[in-house]
Amino acid sequence: MDDALVIGAGHNGLVCAWALARAGMRVRVLERRELVGGACVTEAFAPGFRNSTASYTVSLLAPEVLREMELARHGLRLVLRPEANFLPTEDGRSLLAGTRTAAEFAKFSAADAEALPRYAAMLERIAAALRALARRIPPSGAGGLLDLPALVMAAREVRDLAHADRQALLRLLSGSAAEFLDGWFEAAPVKALFGFDSIVGTWASPFTPGTGYVLLHHLFGEVNGVKGAWGHAVGGMGAITQAMRAACLEAGVAIETGTPVARVLVAGGRAQGVETADGRIFAARLVAAGVGPKLLFGRLVAPEHQPDWLVEGMRGYRSGSASFRMNLALSALPRFAARPEPGPHLASGIILSPSLEWMDRAWRDSVETGMARAPIVEMLIPSLLDDSLAPPGCHVASLFAQHVAPRLPGGRPWDAAARAEAAERVLDVVERFAPGLRRLVVGQLALSPADLEERFGLADGDIFHGAMQLPQLWAARPLLGLGSYRTPVAGLWLCGAGAHPGGGVTGLPGRNAARAILAARRLGRA
Ligand SMILES: Cc1cc2nc3c(=O)[nH]c(=O)nc-3n(C[C@H](O)[C@H](O)[C@H](O)COP(=O)(O)OP(=O)(O)OC[C@H]3O[C@@H](n4cnc5c(N)ncnc54)[C@H](O)[C@@H]3O)c2cc1C
Repeated sequence: MDDALVIGAGHNGLVCAWALARAGMRVRVLERRELVGGACVTEAFAPGFRNSTASYTVSLLAPEVLREMELARHGLRLVLRPEANFLPTEDGRSLLAGTRTAAEFAKFSAADAEALPRYAAMLERIAAALRALARRIPPSGAGGLLDLPALVMAAREVRDLAHADRQALLRLLSGSAAEFLDGWFEAAPVKALFGFDSIVGTWASPFTPGTGYVLLHHLFGEVNGVKGAWGHAVGGMGAITQAMRAACLEAGVAIETGTPVARVLVAGGRAQGVETADGRIFAARLVAAGVGPKLLFGRLVAPEHQPDWLVEGMRGYRSGSASFRMNLALSALPRFAARPEPGPHLASGIILSPSLEWMDRAWRDSVETGMARAPIVEMLIPSLLDDSLAPPGCHVASLFAQHVAPRLPGGRPWDAAARAEAAERVLDVVERFAPGLRRLVVGQLALSPADLEERFGLADGDIFHGAMQLPQLWAARPLLGLGSYRTPVAGLWLCGAGAHPGGGVTGLPGRNAARAILAARRLGRA
């Protein structure tokens, strides 16, 4: 019998497994795919071309995960983008954020350039409080006495913020990103540059209350010690999980791929292990689920083992991030009309959505017809930072687009025709800003929300295992009562992005869950 079984070798499952094994437990990870990594993988998608298939850029990965698992020793190398973002506008101008952001803002608004340092400092203070909270095990949210210490610690983090920062945090948590940005800036491209983060993986308009938090969530990372920066994992995002796999194997974790779990075995209210799709039984003292809560409670744990509040709560659980993901194999670099010559802007996060109104229209279209006419697109060309991804002289581009409805209206399936239609709309947007792009495409991969569900096991194609909005954050992630990684089935724990602090390649749900499990074991309550 194993001490612990982890369902799913996503990066969080691997982090959790590693920490448990390092604490002396006998740990086994069961992964449905042949490849470990979940939504953090690199795969070949055209002859000679490979790229990250789902997540495509790194920032949120916790430095302590990098350090503790010695991911650099296991081959991981992260590089910073030379500039953070490039945002071309429809009138042929552009904004380049990174090394000279204020000067670039001044091209559109002197007031915005002047506001930038205060805005950045305020957000960094709030992000620092969130970074601390992200590393604490939240209260369960069930309201018992055991919740008190975690509540006190969290209150301290927020109390230490200045009055104005607390007010801003409240607005970000409850209000829309658009209202928040309106309070700081006036130029449409400036607001779009920051507003893009508020709709990533979130089926909402930037004018929708709650999107302020999504903006904040994307700011609490760092790359190579640079706070808030985004970068690239050499070899693609899969290099992160391959390094984690190596660390796990070294720590003695057994990893079985091609092994889908069919159900969690429960007897006497306690998890006893799992049964796999091919009927094998794996017994264990505890089970940690790296899969999302909708999949876990919807398919793997029989309803009779779930209390009514859990069944009710999951019925209202919000998931479905309306994301569409493409990889392009390119015969040459694209040229943007606003900045035709090659330069550092091409190696930045290229945001093709020049106003919050564009983003709002994309959301409205997706609600009415299932697909944005002009999606919100971020484009990265990682082969500029990493020559292992494409043949010499060629390039790969990651395209991340919103909004396409997780389920199309009128019962229309997400079939090949729907996928092709959405892909054309994404390419239309890129072509609008980089004319001639289509002629460079020599291969492509397109993944609809249904494909993301099928390939990665992401329920409703939700990139975060469930919406990152106030009713599903902290002690309420995924539901009130499940906030501390424990579930009502004794010995069954959550360790994936559906748990605090949520989605993104952070490693923190896995690390926090392992800490919670080990603390409970010390008290004989795991
Ligand atoms: C298209 C897309 C773009 C994204 N872009 C970024 C980005 O650029 N940067 C960023 O930081 N984050 C990004 N994200 C979010 C981030 O990738 C995820 O939030 C994160 O990877 C989730 O990790 P996880 O380990 O919690 O879960 P997952 O990665 O979902 O892992 C769960 C694992 O469980 C396995 N599994 C499922 N069912 C079973 C079963 N029955 N039995 C056994 N195994 C099972 C799955 O195959 C998977 O390996 C993106 C996600 C997507 C989908």
